[in-house]
Order: sequence, then C-alpha cells, then structure tokens
Amino acid sequence: MADFRDLRIVIIGAGMGGLGSALAFAKKGFKHIDVFETASNLGFVGAGIQLPPNVARVLDRLGCWDEIEREATDVKDTSIRQGSTNIELAHVNMPDVREKFGQPHCTGHRASLAGGLYNGCKKESAITFHFSTALVRVDSWAPRPMLTVKPRDSEPYQVTADVVLASDGIKSVTRTQMLADALGATSEEEDTGQAAYRIMLTRAEMAHDAEMLALLDSDTVVRWIGERRHIIAYPVSSHNIYNLSSAQPDDNFAAATNATYTTRGSKAAMLDVFADFCPLVHRMLNLVPDGEVCEWKLRVYKELPTWTHGSVALLGDACHPTLPHLSQGAAMAIEDGAVLAECVARVPAESLAGDSDSSAAAIAKALKVFELLRKPYTTMLVDLASFSGRTLHLGEGKAKEERDAAFRDGAKTGSVPDKWASPDVQKMIYSNDCVQVTADEFDKLYATLA
Ligand SMILES: Cc1cc2nc3c(=O)[nH]c(=O)nc-3n(C[C@H](O)[C@H](O)[C@H](O)COP(=O)(O)OP(=O)(O)OC[C@H]3O[C@@H](n4cnc5c(N)ncnc54)[C@H](O)[C@@H]3O)c2cc1C
Repeated sequence: MADFRDLRIVIIGAGMGGLGSALAFAKKGFKHIDVFETASNLGFVGAGIQLPPNVARVLDRLGCWDEIEREATDVKDTSIRQGSTNIELAHVNMPDVREKFGQPHCTGHRASLAGGLYNGCKKESAITFHFSTALVRVDSWAPRPMLTVKPRDSEPYQVTADVVLASDGIKSVTRTQMLADALGATSEEEDTGQAAYRIMLTRAEMAHDAEMLALLDSDTVVRWIGERRHIIAYPVSSHNIYNLSSAQPDDNFAAATNATYTTRGSKAAMLDVFADFCPLVHRMLNLVPDGEVCEWKLRVYKELPTWTHGSVALLGDACHPTLPHLSQGAAMAIEDGAVLAECVARVPAESLAGDSDSSAAAIAKALKVFELLRKPYTTMLVDLASFSGRTLHLGEGKAKEERDAAFRDGAKTGSVPDKWASPDVQKMIYSNDCVQVTADEFDKLYATLA
C-alpha cells in the first residue's frame, strides 16, 4: 500500500474527539474509517460549551462551523463578579475577537457541536459508525493493531486496523492497557476535590424576571466567584437557553462514585453550597426542578508518560483530561483529531509501500510527532486551568486581596487572574492554528525520531 488514503483507521469513542477525528481523516481523503461507540447514540448531555476561535478555525476547515455558529452566541464581553454581592471585579471587553483571530469566540449547546460534527460525518461515505459496540481490549499494538469489540446484543469479534485512535474519554480502557503493556505503568488520578452542577434554564422559565432576561439576551459570559466555588453562565441556542456550570467542593461524591461519575444531586444541597451567593444567582438556582439536579465529579490524571504505543494513539480526555476552568477540553480533543489526520497523511509514501513492519514503524513515528506537537501544549493548558481554579476559589486573606487588585488593574495590564478571560492567555490560545503548526513542524520532528 503506497497511498495513505487506503490505511484502515479505527476510532474508539464518538465523543467530541472521536467525531472530530473521523471528520478530519475523511476530509484528508482517508477511505476507511470505522468508529466504535459504546452508547446507542450520541447521548447528548444537556449542557453548554464554549467554542473558542481556535476550535472554530478547525471546525470551519472541516466544513461544519456554519451550522454550529448559526445557533451560537457571539461573545462580546465577560464579567467576573463577587458571588456574594454581584459586584463586578473585572469586565473584559472582547469586541474584536473575530477581527484579531479570524473566528469569533462563541458559546453553544453541546448537542449543536456534536450534531454539527455528526452531520458532517454522515456526509462522508468513508465513515462507518458502530453504535452500541464497545472496545473490550487491545489484543495487539503493532504492526497492525488488533482489537476485540463487543456489540451490546451479540458476541465479541476482532477488528484489525492500520491506525487506532483512542478517544474513549476520561475512563479510557485503552489508556490503562497502553500504560500497562508499554511501560508496566498505571495512570495516576489526581484528586481535584471539585464537582460541578450543570443547569439549563429556558426563556419561558426566566421570562418573569427582568434581571435574568437581561443575562439571557446579552452576549456576555458571567463568572460569579466565591471561596472554593464559582458559577460560570452564558446564553446558548439562539439566546433561548441560559447555561450555568458550577464548580464546588466534591462533598457528595467521595462516598458515591458511579460508572458515569455523575449523581442525581439534591436541590437543597445545591442551594446550600451557594447559600451566600447573591439573590440573582439564587433565583436562577431555584428554577431547577426538584429531582433534576445533576452533579459531575471533575477528574484529571497526572501527565501520562506516553500517548502512543505502536500504531495506537490516545487523544482528548483519554490522555489530557482537564478541569473546565479554561473552557478548552473539547476544543483540545477536536484539535487533536485534526493534528492526527495531518500527521498520518504525511507518512512518507515509500514507507507505506514497504513491508508491514516498515509501514507500521513509519505510522508509529507519525503518531509520536502528534504527541511531540500536542503534549507540551495541552499540558500547559491543563496546568493553567488548575491554576485559574485555585486563584478563582481563594478565601479571605492577602492572596485574595492581591487577586482582586489584579482584577481591577486588568484593563491596564492586559491580564486578569481568571485565565479564561485574560487577554494575554486568549491571544496565546486563540492564535494557535494547530493544523498550520503541524504542516510547518512535521518533517523536522519526524526526522528527529529513530
Ligand atoms: C462541567 C464541565 C464543563 C465543561 N466545559 C467545557 C467548555 O466550555 N469547553 C470545552 O472545550 N470543554 C469543556 N469541558 C470538557 C469537555 O467536555 C471534554 O474535554 C470533552 O468532551 C472530551 O472529549 P473526548 O472525545 O475526549 O471525550 P468524551 O466526549 O467523553 O467522549 C468519549 C466517548 O467514548 C465513548 N467510550 C468510552 N469508552 C468506550 C469503549 N470502551 N468503547 C467504545 N466507546 C467508548 C464514550 O461513550 C464517549 O462517547 C467541560 C467538562 C465538564 C465536566
């Protein structure tokens, strides 16, 4: 086989990273892409998501951004407020994101992001989805990886591929097995001590309250912060839904972790967590129906020693799960897919024309280039998200006084302690064109590998 387009690509998981990878490989011309997903469908979580320019750029190249942008909110500013008083600590205007970075910063519904990617995939005859079919184990990693998958209602069977992309999320079985088989290592979970509520309020639910309606009709992301807690909120779905996502101490989970790391929360407990937040926040939390409070455990892992083994690569939350405080988790997963497609498409044709060992060695090198390009960058963003969380959650004392002074001085310094909203950090992340970086760096990095 001399043409990279004939390589058989297998993707595990149809989350943000899996869908993004499938579409990126199809757009590069790969002809055989199979996606295996445990769930029977895309299983949309009712939650919002931020869509920064760096991911809009990738989605635009994949041809699905217009559809996603149609319902999204084009964010024009962000307001960071003291949770208890609703007093603004900093206001960061973002009027010219589109002009500066070529794409806007938007907020949207997760269903709209996943749906836009999925609709894009459905137009590509190269992509086949196998829903209700879970990866059981990786039987071999090279030269041609072999996997066992299990459809929900039938017997397990084996699948062989040239390249396997494991976008199987935070609970990745591939990660666990890869570290054990490649290095005799285990992935170490870091206790974040944090959990999140995710809430969506409809226009009808908010209609009676002018202050709430003003939030829904705005183009503003608001973050209310307090000791060890915050709430971030923004409009999605053509300003018809107001999305709130919180972070608070993980008190309910310690004893009750389940398979999905979510739990039906108690409304009383949620109101209690934010007891000293301002009346506006309380009025919104009070709109959540009893029995519909859902809480997520926020999980991260220590940086992994490797992301690849043979012709198998991890991507997205499987290898760089992050706290959500920088709003880059899904963006990074989708970028990973685009970078992987670029790397595998650049495997030299003469290597693919050789025997299966030389072909597999070249593929393994291309996957290593992906790791070299993405690991330092995503590790920096994951660290920045943790740092931002620590700063946002400070209690009374000198450090908090200094933080609040830094918020006040933000307009002068061009930097605020909420790293998501900080113009210097935004510039660094939003201007990162991961596909262009790959095109520029691939040959040099490939040549450094034995
Ligand atoms: C509260 C909160 C708020 C967030 N806000 C943002 C935000 O504003 N912006 C942002 O960019 N990110 C945000 N994120 C992060 C983002 O949701 C994740 O980083 C992103 O979804 C990761 O994508 P993924 O494809 O790696 O994993 P996932 O989307 O989790 O997908 C993994 C998929 O693999 C499937 N799977 C798992 N195991 C198997 C198996 N053995 N066989 C087959 N299939 C399998 C799963 O069913 C799932 O469909 C937030 C996260 C949280 C918790």
